[in-house]
Amino acid sequence: MVKDTKYYDILGVKPNASADDIKKAYRKLALKLHPDKNPDNDPEQFKLLSQAYETLADDKKRQIYDQGGEQALKEGGVGAGHFSSPFDLFDAFFGGSGGRRFGGGGEQRGKNLVHQLAVSLEELYNGAVRKLALQKNVICDKCEGRGGKKGAVQKCSTCHGSGYVIRVNQLAPGMIQQIQSHCSECDGKGEKINQKDKCKTCDGKKIVRERKIIEVHIDKGMEDGKKITFSGEGDQEPGLEPGDIVVVLDEKEHPVFKRDKTDLHMTMSITLSEALCGFQKVINTLDSRVLVITSLPGDIIKPGDIKCLLNEGMPVYRNPLDKGRLVLHFDVKFPEKNEINNKNLATLESLLPPRPVVRAPPDAEECSLTEFDPRQNRNRHDAYEEDDPRQGGPTQVNCATH
Ligand SMILES: [Zn+2]
Ligand SMILES: [Zn+2]
Repeated sequence: MVKDTKYYDILGVKPNASADDIKKAYRKLALKLHPDKNPDNDPEQFKLLSQAYETLADDKKRQIYDQGGEQALKEGGVGAGHFSSPFDLFDAFFGGSGGRRFGGGGEQRGKNLVHQLAVSLEELYNGAVRKLALQKNVICDKCEGRGGKKGAVQKCSTCHGSGYVIRVNQLAPGMIQQIQSHCSECDGKGEKINQKDKCKTCDGKKIVRERKIIEVHIDKGMEDGKKITFSGEGDQEPGLEPGDIVVVLDEKEHPVFKRDKTDLHMTMSITLSEALCGFQKVINTLDSRVLVITSLPGDIIKPGDIKCLLNEGMPVYRNPLDKGRLVLHFDVKFPEKNEINNKNLATLESLLPPRPVVRAPPDAEECSLTEFDPRQNRNRHDAYEEDDPRQGGPTQVNCATH
């Protein structure tokens, strides 16, 4: 039992979610809630998501949180309640080529552009090429990123090019306060261009928006969450190394197959007579082949039986001739109530292994079977003792004693 489910609720997962589920939930929500993705997004929500993920993705922090909630994180071990900036976490999670922005040389780079691409299981099975159109910032060609005519750009005289100014306040005689603030003259840029000399193409901003179409090659066997990086194709900014475009694959649900790494799972419904007497079934594969499987009479299939077809699962990424398994979960459809008449039941009984004969003692109590509803209380007495407002009228007594 976890003390508080808040972080799980933020991520939309159950408290028993696996590390993979948590990662996936963060991935989907982070792309939706990032303030860059949609100006209407509430930064506070993005921050909370980040905190929830940071806590639950770390085994130790998750354990502390499960036992004592947020309070325990604050009081708990070293740095348990310390959170990274939600943007750093986002960048580290979706980081392009090796996350050079962090740790490394600390070199400044333009922003990475992260895009989610919904792909079908068929595309991941067969491989595909998808075109993706996106908007990015590029350095203005016209002025070569200067923002105006050559020589028109001048150092701001107010801040001497630093972008900020220092004001000195005298608080009391002999007591001064220095305040560093944004230079309002140049808007913190450190330079100025006369209106008439400004580049008309970029309006002095040095960068322009450009529509870019990239081709995403989806290789056989790639998995949900796979990141495909286009190095240096992200936003450009004067004086900075450009960022990357990172495309994150989002596997769509398939109506028949559920994927588990290289295995595919499907439910196969068969009738009772098929289960007992054998059957043939046809399966349409993700690469449009048709498979036929046969169960011989006497190969009895029981409800919940699991069988598999080797080498009919997902291709292995980078080794696509190797495939996983196609796992069949059998669901046996029994005849409905009263579907078989009494005469046929007698015939059926004569064919099936004999029923055991039960001899009940004379003082045995006669009970009747009732449909089980897990939402109901166990018996009428419990229902009156518990003051649960959801409880309706008296529930049925399942076993009456005489
Ligand atoms: Zn320009
Ligand atoms: Zn200035």
